[in-house]
Amino acid sequence: MPIPASALISDPEELARLTACAPDVLSKVHALYPIRVSRYFLELALRHGAPLLRQILPDALELEDRETPSDPLNEENLSPVPCLIHRYPDRAVLLVSGECASYCRFCTRKRKVGGKDMRLSPDLLAAAVGYLKKTPAIVDLLLSGGDPFMLTDRQLEQILAQVRAISSIRIIRIGTRMPCMFPQRVTEELAAMLKRFHPLYINLHFNHPEEVTPEAAAACARLADAGIPLGSQTVLLRGINDAAPVLKELFYRLLAARVKPYYLFQIDQVRGTSHFRTPVENGQEIMRQLVGFVSGMAVPRFALDTPGGGGKIPLCPSYVEELGEFCTFTTYRGQSGRYPNTLWPPQEKTGPHPG
Ligand SMILES: *Cc1c(COP(=O)(O)O)cnc(C)c1O
Ligand code: SF4
Repeated sequence: MPIPASALISDPEELARLTACAPDVLSKVHALYPIRVSRYFLELALRHGAPLLRQILPDALELEDRETPSDPLNEENLSPVPCLIHRYPDRAVLLVSGECASYCRFCTRKRKVGGKDMRLSPDLLAAAVGYLKKTPAIVDLLLSGGDPFMLTDRQLEQILAQVRAISSIRIIRIGTRMPCMFPQRVTEELAAMLKRFHPLYINLHFNHPEEVTPEAAAACARLADAGIPLGSQTVLLRGINDAAPVLKELFYRLLAARVKPYYLFQIDQVRGTSHFRTPVENGQEIMRQLVGFVSGMAVPRFALDTPGGGGKIPLCPSYVEELGEFCTFTTYRGQSGRYPNTLWPPQEKTGPHPG
């Protein structure tokens, strides 16, 4: 592991001593789900309170939530090879690490992060590479987990070299929460290594403005200076970031750190995480308070990863009222308007050009 073990708190008893968490809750949750917090994030969270603490401190409600499915996105059945999820026609996810610097209580892969069956052995990697080679339709490969930056630079480099050598892969993406949870891991050396595998995109994960610390911004700068375009995804979490002013501040702080907000996710319906769920209409109302009022660069796509594994769908509210001879709409300020929706010179409408 490239992070010193002393930088991470994985012992529930120690976590109980450092926080107001009840030791019996911690040990009961620990029997079912992994627990870990980086000292860096815990210190930050203790300074800023509930919105950060609740993301990483176990809650007794995790145990009461028993009926919710553990794999609602049907990832296990969409895995042609263990550790590879192929849901969309042209892209796939390779789970390269089972560990994270901190375990988020609302994780979509709560059923398996921190567990043994998530380690990518050389054999599994070879099988995944074999599948990618015989499936040239996959052009966009996402390395995820767990957190890929929990691997050593050398381990990650070997994986990147193997997937970069597949001629059908056009872009590689890495999903990581490391700049938020342990920014010191994102070293100059790591950035210099990653730079050799362009075109490479990195998607980060930030949920609250107080997470964008000077250290986190410096980690983002090291990646951006290596020419890596940075995006971020945010999970809408009840009582943590489900307010337009909080998200607006988060998205502007990310942009200032050269990170483009990419997705705002409705939380997945995953066992042990239901206490974080927000109503879909609240997310839509928040989007209405952002669209038009803040920089378009600061507005992510609000989306839901649909239960059953059907893929992500946009949940953004529509501003279009009707489509006919006119496209009628309401602006972000609530004014009605219309746009001519006919061809000129007058003729029958046809579908889009076949290309
Ligand atoms: C989210 C996801 C992707 C990537 O989706 P984009 O909308 O292209 O960012 C690809 N595969 C799986 C299985 C996913 O869950
Ligand atoms: S960093 Fe990502 S993969 Fe790891 S626990 Fe958090 S949400 Fe899950």
